[in-house]
Amino acid sequence: CGIFGYTGTRRAAETVVDGLEKLEYRGYDSAGVLVLSEGDPVLVRTVGATRELRERMGKQPPPGHTAIGHTRWATHGQPSERNAHPHRCGQVFVVHNGIIENDSEIRRELHHVGTAFSSDTDSELIGHLIDRNMTSGMDFKTAVLATLPRLSGTYSFLAVTDRSDSPVIAVHMGSPLIIGKNAEGLFLSSDAHAFPPEVSEILPVSRGDVVILSSGKPPEFLLGAGQEKPFQSWSVTPE
Ligand code: GLU
Repeated sequence: CGIFGYTGTRRAAETVVDGLEKLEYRGYDSAGVLVLSEGDPVLVRTVGATRELRERMGKQPPPGHTAIGHTRWATHGQPSERNAHPHRCGQVFVVHNGIIENDSEIRRELHHVGTAFSSDTDSELIGHLIDRNMTSGMDFKTAVLATLPRLSGTYSFLAVTDRSDSPVIAVHMGSPLIIGKNAEGLFLSSDAHAFPPEVSEILPVSRGDVVILSSGKPPEFLLGAGQEKPFQSWSVTPE
C-alpha cells in the first residue's frame, strides 16, 4: 500500500500516477488518484494496478496542479472500485494507509447523524469527520486537527478539499511519509524512492506530525517537531 501526493507547477495527474507505480512493490489490490482542476475535481479509481489508472485517464489526463493518489492493500472492505481510495466525503477527499481501530464506534456515530457511506472502509470515516467539522464552521486546517483525537490506530493520510486551490494536509500517525521538494513543487510519498529523480531535497515526517503543503510555499508543520528539521539533500542511487 502507498500514498503519493503533489502540489506545484507540474501536471499533477501524471506525476502522482508515476509515483504510485514506483510504490507498487509495497503491495496493492487497487489504485486511485484525485486531481484538483479549475472545474470539478476528477476522481479516477480502479481495481488492479496503476497501469489500469493510466488507461482510464487515457491520452488526456485531467489538468490540474494538485493531486493525491493511493495504492490500496485492503484491510476493511474487499478490493473493489467503491472501496478504492481516494474517498470523497462531502467537500473532502482522503487517501489513507493503515488502520483506524475504533472504526465501528465512529461508523455507528456517523450513521446515527445520517451520514451516507460510499464504501466499507475505515478510511472513509476520516473524511466524514473532517467534512462534518467543516460543515459546522471550522476551516480545513482546524477541521483536520479536531478530527485527530477521535482516531486510534497506526496510520497516515492525506486530505484535500474540493476547491481547486486546496492545500494538501498530511498526517503521520505511524505509517511512513516523506516530503520531497524541487523547483517544481512539493511531493509526498510513503517512500522517497518513488519521487522523480529531479527531487533533490527531502524532509522525513515523523509520527505525530501534521503538515500543510500549499503550492509555492514551504511546508508548514501544524503539529509535531517537524519545523525544527531542515530539508536534507537526496539523490536516487542507481541499483
Ligand atoms: N484500511 C484501509 C483500507 O482498507 C487502508 C488500507 C491500506 O493501507 O492500503 O482501505
